[in-house]
Parts: sequence; structure tokens; C-alpha cells
Amino acid sequence: MDDAILPGSFGGDKSKLKDDSKLECKICWHVYNPDEGDDYWQIAPGTPFSELPEDWSCPECDGNKNDFMLIDK
Ligand SMILES: [Zn+2]
Repeated sequence: MDDAILPGSFGGDKSKLKDDSKLECKICWHVYNPDEGDDYWQIAPGTPFSELPEDWSCPECDGNKNDFMLIDK
């Protein structure tokens, strides 16, 4: 349900993302940092959030990719 997406959530809108954007899980506050990638999912360092696999989810709580929030710098 699109209505359920909170303001500030990524919500699948890749146009909001830059290659170096960091995003934070709104459930457990896990941060995805493109500079570090993701060991759990074997994502190489330097991979933008927008290029993560469709089935990627939070390595800490299995939260949906679309529930990540963009962190303002
Ligand atoms: Zn999480």
C-alpha cells in the first residue's frame, strides 16, 4: 500500500537517491552506507542503494528495502 509510506521514506523512488546517499532502516536504524556495501548480502563497497538487488532487505531486521529512509546530510 503506497499510502502506508511515511514522509521521508525512500518508498522505491530512486530519483531521490544519489550514488553516495546513505539510508537508514526505520525499524532498527541500521544504516546502509554505499562506501561500505553490505557483507551480509555480499554487496561490494561502492554499490549505490539504488543498485541493490530487488530482493535486498535489512540485514538486521529483514525490513523491506522501501522502508529505508534517506539520511539528510
Ligand atoms: Zn532494519
